[in-house]
Amino acid sequence: MADTQLLDKLVSLCKRRGFVFQSSEIYGGTGSVWDYGPLGVELKRNVKEAWWRAMVHERDDIEGLDAAILMHPRVWEASGHVAEFSDPLVECGNCHRRFREDTLQSESGKATMAEIRCPSCGVTGQWSEPRQFNLMFKTFMGPVEGEAATVYLRPETAQGIFVNFLNVQQSARQKIPFGIAQIGKAFRNEITPGNFTFRTREFEQMEMQYFVEPGTDDAAFDEWKARRMEWHTGVLGLAPDRLRFHEHAPDKLAHYAKAAFDVEFFFGGSVGEEGWGEVEGVHNRTDFDLRRHEEFSGKKLQYVDTVAGKRYLPYIIETSVGADRITLAVLANGYREEEVEGEQRVVLGLKPSLAPLKAGIFPLVKRDGMPERAGAIHEDLRRRGIPNLYDDAGSIGKRYRRQDEAGTPFCITIDGEGAAEGTVTIRERDTMEQTRISEDRIPDFLLERIGA
Ligand code: ATP
Repeated sequence: MADTQLLDKLVSLCKRRGFVFQSSEIYGGTGSVWDYGPLGVELKRNVKEAWWRAMVHERDDIEGLDAAILMHPRVWEASGHVAEFSDPLVECGNCHRRFREDTLQSESGKATMAEIRCPSCGVTGQWSEPRQFNLMFKTFMGPVEGEAATVYLRPETAQGIFVNFLNVQQSARQKIPFGIAQIGKAFRNEITPGNFTFRTREFEQMEMQYFVEPGTDDAAFDEWKARRMEWHTGVLGLAPDRLRFHEHAPDKLAHYAKAAFDVEFFFGGSVGEEGWGEVEGVHNRTDFDLRRHEEFSGKKLQYVDTVAGKRYLPYIIETSVGADRITLAVLANGYREEEVEGEQRVVLGLKPSLAPLKAGIFPLVKRDGMPERAGAIHEDLRRRGIPNLYDDAGSIGKRYRRQDEAGTPFCITIDGEGAAEGTVTIRERDTMEQTRISEDRIPDFLLERIGA
């Protein structure tokens, strides 16, 4: 289970090992925006590819899409974001910092705002009246700034899927039920971002919208709910006791939803409710979105079932997971500290399929042909598409520790002993067990264990 300082430890490990850096750090950072370093970009790519494989490549009934970030401004009126996508904002009269009223209330447990202390300056009850604050970033398209040229940076990728529903259905000759999946950037001007990459202002979403005939939506909802939980445990390897469902109460449902469950992960610390934070939403959006787009665009978006001779607006089951947030969950899930022979070691127990590097390749010493043999193994694995790192700097113990922190599942040491018979030792990250194997078995050994 997570300790309360886990996120702080992850921030420091991520910087030290090159997973995540603060955006524009040399200028003092940008508010809650993060950059992925050499290992982070690989980890996040592996998470996204695992999602794409499960949601698109392994299925005949789901198609991929990559819609643009900038869309027609009417899209956001139709979706309800212009009118509804806002949070209640209050300002502290003493320090003028702004906070979400609902977050202050739920975190303090106090009944009235008059009793709540400002988390920034500590003054109690000096709050302004709440003001609705729209979370969409606005910008202008073309050379003229003004209302007519206003466009928004999309706050969710889903709308790009809805407006392309018939394009995809007809071009891919799909029949209902079928889905459209997309991975892409989304932007929200969050009032109280924080907790590292948990809540940021620029993030990536992995969303799949599944179109079904009305009346079959409850069954499809239950199926996707179960399937998505299986993905988190089976594919990402998240610990089942750190995952749970949270059902939205009827009065807390979003304006478009008939039913909604969040998949929550236990991060610990100040995330969400007692350390549990949403990583994915599974929603029954009904026909709300397509109906609204029909209304606002004046175009028919009905599905025509030629076999049954019916036409209707499908219901939509949405699964929406944040790529950054779930990557943070993967890091939090894998992080552990252990004592080995009186020394502390930090290990990122990532699933080998997700690990940025699959192996570290170490010549024991920089002589007697060991660097050359190690270099040849490094090249050979690279050619086979197995990401690996050649490292000959420092003691072998230090090299192991560096790769433990990077989550690299295997380290291969080329020593003098194995030179004659062409063998190497492979050390396994989690058990620290070492096995001597023949050099030509290395690719198979790794491929068998990396899996998917
Ligand atoms: P929250 O309640 O945490 O604000 P939400 O219910 O608004 O999230 P959705 O609109 O359902 O979130 O978005 C789907 C997913 O996108 C979330 O489960 C989360 O993983 C991710 N996500 C949403 N907002 C952010 C953010 N500001 N930073 C990082 N990821 C986010």
